[in-house]
Formats: sequence, structure tokens, C-alpha cells
Amino acid sequence: MCSTKVIKIKGRVQGVGFRPFVFSLAMQYKLCGFVQNNMDGVYIVVQGTEENIISFIQAVQMQKPRLAKIYALEVQHTEFKAYHQFEILTSNHQGKSDLVLPVDASVCSKCIAELLDPENRRYLYPFINCTDCGPRYTIITGLPYDRVHTTMNSFPMCEMCQKEYQHPKNRRHHAQPNACPVCGPTYTFYPLDSGQISISDSIVAAVHALESGKIIAIKGIGGYHLVCDAQNEVAIQMLRKRKKRQSKPLAIMARNLEVLKQVCHLSATEQKWLESVEAPIVLCQKKRTTIFPEQLAPGLHSLGVMLPYAPIHVVLFKQTKLDFLVMTSANPSKLPMLYQDESAQHFLSGLADGILTHNREIVHPVDDSVVQLLPKIGMQMIRRARGFAPEPMLIEQNVDGIVALGSQQKNTFAFGRNQQIFLGPHIGDLDALEMIEHDQKVLKHLLEWLDIQPKLIVIDQHPLFSVRSFASDFGVPIYEVQHHHAHMVSCMTEHGMTDAPAYGIVLDGTGYGSDGKIWGFEILYGSPAFFERKGHLVYTALPGGEKSILTPWKNAVGMLLSLFGSEKGGVMAQVLFPNRKMEIHVLKTMVEKEINSPLAGTCGRLFDAVSAMLGVCEKQNYDGEAAILLSEYADITQVNQIKPYAYTIKLVANNYEISFSEMLLQIYVDIQQKENRKMIVSRFHQTIVDAICDIMIQLKNKESCRQVFCSGGSFQNPYLVIGLKEKLSQCGFSVYFQQQVPTNDGGLSLGQLRIGQSYLTSS
Ligand code: ZN
Ligand code: ZN
Ligand code: FE
Repeated sequence: MCSTKVIKIKGRVQGVGFRPFVFSLAMQYKLCGFVQNNMDGVYIVVQGTEENIISFIQAVQMQKPRLAKIYALEVQHTEFKAYHQFEILTSNHQGKSDLVLPVDASVCSKCIAELLDPENRRYLYPFINCTDCGPRYTIITGLPYDRVHTTMNSFPMCEMCQKEYQHPKNRRHHAQPNACPVCGPTYTFYPLDSGQISISDSIVAAVHALESGKIIAIKGIGGYHLVCDAQNEVAIQMLRKRKKRQSKPLAIMARNLEVLKQVCHLSATEQKWLESVEAPIVLCQKKRTTIFPEQLAPGLHSLGVMLPYAPIHVVLFKQTKLDFLVMTSANPSKLPMLYQDESAQHFLSGLADGILTHNREIVHPVDDSVVQLLPKIGMQMIRRARGFAPEPMLIEQNVDGIVALGSQQKNTFAFGRNQQIFLGPHIGDLDALEMIEHDQKVLKHLLEWLDIQPKLIVIDQHPLFSVRSFASDFGVPIYEVQHHHAHMVSCMTEHGMTDAPAYGIVLDGTGYGSDGKIWGFEILYGSPAFFERKGHLVYTALPGGEKSILTPWKNAVGMLLSLFGSEKGGVMAQVLFPNRKMEIHVLKTMVEKEINSPLAGTCGRLFDAVSAMLGVCEKQNYDGEAAILLSEYADITQVNQIKPYAYTIKLVANNYEISFSEMLLQIYVDIQQKENRKMIVSRFHQTIVDAICDIMIQLKNKESCRQVFCSGGSFQNPYLVIGLKEKLSQCGFSVYFQQQVPTNDGGLSLGQLRIGQSYLTSS
């Protein structure tokens, strides 16, 4: 019995080889009809036996291509019309777009095999790709995704490529960036210093420079990288000097998994992520005997590692004897990543000794993503960019036209279209004007492209956040959201929560509090519609204000003076920082007279202060350095086993205030007595876990809510995550952490957007 059905599929189904896949399945199940891309997704009409159609639909879902994701699949009956064959029709551009943007994917194993096969016509051709791999988001100029709407449009395919592209059984059928050495883009090497011998093969020339200790800028998928030999200390030092990046860890790329296993501990899940389609940087633990200079990641046991993800990387490693390359985004200090050739050439002359560039334009710059794997939790996103952004999340509520502008540091924006939330790629810190302009440009581009009319702009309450400078440009209402409320709701949204209130534990660097003070150690109760503060850290003076975050020792002195008074606190400060007598005197006056000494109670600050007291980090070169270096001493095998320090919790006006003054005094004594640093730091971590659990138990005895959503930058700390997860679960709470969305300020815009949605519905 012959039947005809219409199948509508939504999701990541364009630009991923979905039509040829459907075509070959239709052949297999002897179906006639057609498949077509439209503004909504993929539209299929199949005609054949009922049985075959059912098998076909199952196969579509089970065997879908490497890069495809199906969010919704709808089957409808349709009137009979005779079809005599199965066809791939040209795209239909009618109607409002609900399309998902395809993301860039790591080179697949079949393409790698061809790339390294001397007999293949694409032998060592660094732009090889197929429907299962290659650039997507970074080269798209318009939608729907077809070759004419990519920067490959300026490379007409040669006859052979055209044949592959058109042949339904070819694995490059409709692979939009399809290219070969005859017709496609090419790499060129420009030496920037004298004394480099000219070698005709560009990649060999770049490899030669790398092997002789030079720094080379390489244009890749999402922008330029600065690259050097990861085992060459002089080269790394030079790179740090030129990039003005004193101690922030540098990521490396390894030749393959085998060489990486020799230098890092890799779990099965870590390996899986390294080899994934998204191919992010994975934070791994270095083995004890390391072959890398300390300069690579000073003071850290962890190392950001990745595997070759673009064909150019595979070719580079094929040509070089080096097993590890430093690979860091090429951006001048505090400025956006370089991706346009003109500005790149201008800036790179001060950064690199040579440029290995290509003539395919990058439309959308995107950084490498960074993830870490936490025991008992799983994958945790630290920087969401290449391979993940701008993949939307689906949500029950309609969020159309809501645009959230995110945070000051680690900025991302988010916007809604119907029931999709698009979380933009990691932009960075919005301190320089160029960064703010870059942020605006990327946002504007995506909004236009996805045809979104903003109707509400959501921003942080902080009066000095840079996004305020353009928030009013949209000409629609602006809604302000408290920083930690946004963190909490970001976590709730990620875990698909509806409007039911729950607890939030937000441990963070800094954030503007509703009372004008600096918050960041918050126990909240709320939903997207509201929040109440249930507990927080006792405020202490922060002489110098938020700027003092860069100097943890000043922050520590401010804390000691506030908690123990000028006299006792002053003595403690002098003992801990004997070389800073004069400055301590000034800080004393500031705190006593309340000059530029706002009150703050944040977790990040507490970490910084303890880090400075222990002499681990007195001045930081990058955001979070003091806390990260301190956490390296926490013994994760001792979580919830070790004795905490003393602390007090006081109920003041229905709000639990936590004071760690006893702990700080004991740490001070332990330092005098030269107590083991690992012990002190582990006990410090445990004290935070225990204090929070104490409050949660008291709340549990009063109220029925049992769900806890944890967010904030401090939850990148494995000890805190594991400690709270374990203890709170034992107390009967369901505990959630951010995973797909950064727990740091990179995830803020998601929470802002959801709170904005709640505001719109209620107003
Ligand atoms: Zn491929
Ligand atoms: Zn070709
Ligand atoms: Fe934050």
C-alpha cells in the first residue's frame, strides 16, 4: 500500500550533509519524493510503502550525520501526488527564518586519511573538508547556508570538485566549502624579520621558522593564532613579552593523543572531548615529570591542551618534528582577536616573526572553546566559543526579541528568537573601546542575520558596566538585573527549570549588589521573577575599591583591618607583609576614614586575601590568578574528610551572615607556625563548604524547597563543587551546577535574558 508523508525537521540540519543523507536513505528504502532546505529547517516528502516510510523515519533519527542535531521532527499525511524519483530540490527562501546556524567542526577521520595520502589529489591540502567536517559559522555571509552565502563563493569549483559537490553519493555532496588545490584557497607565508631563508612551500617555511624558535601567526578557522614551540623557553618568554601576558597560562596543541598521554593524565572522557567534533581546549593535569618550561603555565598543575582540529594543523604536524605547539589567540593586549587580514598585518608586525595566512575570508571570528572535566559532575564549560556558539538552547517560554548584554568580564550576549535562546560566542573583557565596538558589531550582525527585532534590552545593575554605553541605541526599554540573581537563573535555565522558586548559591568574584555594596558570596532564594537574599559573607572594607582586586595583598590588609580593628589587624598586616609598612599605613587611614573603601563580601576576594596571606600571590596578572594558584594546594582527595576552621553564622534580619574572622586568625597563626600549606588551603576550602552547608541545613529545617542551583566563577574550583555536591546531596538537596553554559560571567547573559522574559510576561 503506497503512502505519502511530509516530514518537517528542525534543528542543526543545514550545512551538515542532511539532504544527501536523506537522499541515500530514501534510495535505500525505495522511496520517491524530495528533500528541500527551507527557512524553517528541512522539508521532506516521501512516497512508498508504509513500512519503509516508518523505517526511513527511524533511520533519519538514528543514523543522522556527524554534525546534525534534531530538535523536532513532525510527520504529516499529505494528499497523493505521484512522484517518480527522489530529488534534492534547491532551497526555498520563503517565510520567516527559524534556522539554526551551523557551527564549525573539527576535521573528520576520512578527510585526515585523504590529507595524508600521497596518492590523493588533496594530499596536504589544508582546506580539505566534507559534509561531516570543516568551517561553517565562521565563513557564512547569509542564510540559508549555501555556497553562495559563504566566503567560498569567491572560489568557483573546478570540474572535479563540482562533480563531487553534485553527486548525491559523494561524501562532499553539497559540502559548501568544498575545494581542492586547483580551485580553492591557499596559504602564503610572509616572514616579518630579516634573515629568514625563502622556502617556496609556505607551510614548510612556517615550520622552519617555528623549529628555529620563532613566533608565527597562523590564520586558522576562527581567527589568527600565535604559535611557537611549546618546549622552547626562550620563544615562550618572547611571546609573553610581546603579547604583554605575564603569567596567564598558554594553551598547547599536541601532535596526537599518544604524545599527549605521555605528558598529561587523560581520562576517557577527556580524550573523548579532545577528539570531539567541537574539539575544545581541555584543561588536563600535567604529569609530574614535565617536558615543558614552567613559563607555559606558571604555578599550575593543569595545562590547556587541544588536538589538531583544522587540516592546517594536521599538515603542520606532518611537516614538523615538534610534538607540541603553543597556540594562543592572536590579539594585542586587551584587544579583540585578529581575524581580518588588513588589521592583522598591522598588529602582527609587533607580535610575530612571520605570518602564515590564507585568502579565505573569516566573517565571524571565534575563539577556541575551553572545557574542564570535574569528577562527579562531568563536563564544565569555561569558555563557550568555537564548536558551540551560536548553537541555540530551546526553552518553553517565548523569548522573542529579548536581548541580554551580559557582563563586563568574559562577556557574552544572548538573544531570543521565538523559543530559542542564542548565546553568543565568548567576546572577552569589555575594558577597551575596541572590545566594546567589537561586541556591538558581532551582536548587531547576528541580530540582523537572524532577523530579530529587539523589544527589551537586559543589562546588569552595575552603574559602570561598558554595555551601558550602547544599551539605549536599540531604542527599546532597558531592564536592569542584579548580577547574582542572573547567575542563579542562568543555572536554572540551563537545567530546564520552570518558574518554581529554588535556592541559589552564588560564589563569585565581584558583582554589584542591590544595596550598592559589592556582593559575591550569596545564598539566594528565588525564581526568574524575584529573589531574596538568605545568606551572605560579612562585609569588609576594600581599600581602593574594585581596582584592588588586582592586588590581593591590599585586599587582605583591608579585610584584616575591618575584621580585627586598626590595631590588631594592623599588626597582623605588618607581620604578613613586612615590606609594605608605608602602604599599610595609608590603607589604615583609608579604611578608618572610609576613603574609597567600599564594603565587599565576595568569595573570589576571600580566596585572593588568603592567597596573599600565604604568600602564594600578592599581585595578580590575570583575573582569578590568586584564587587559581591557591586552589592548586587544595587536596581534592580530602574533600569533606578534613577538619574545617572555625567560623560563625549569625541570623540578622532573616539573613544569615557568615564571618570567617576566626578562620583568618587561625590561618594567620598557622602561617606563623609554618603549618603545611596544603593543609591550610584544604582546611580553608572545607570551611567554605561547611559554612554554606550549615546555612542550607538551617533553611531546610524551615522551608520545604530542596533544589539548589550553584553558579559563579568560584565554581570552577573542583574542591568547592565536589564538596558542596556531596554534602548537600547527603542532606537531601538536589544540587545543580552549570555545565553547558559557563559558571563564570560568560554565562550571565543567559540568566539576564530569562529574567527579562519573566519581567515582560508580568508587566
Ligand atoms: Zn571530512
Ligand atoms: Zn577543485
Ligand atoms: Fe559574576
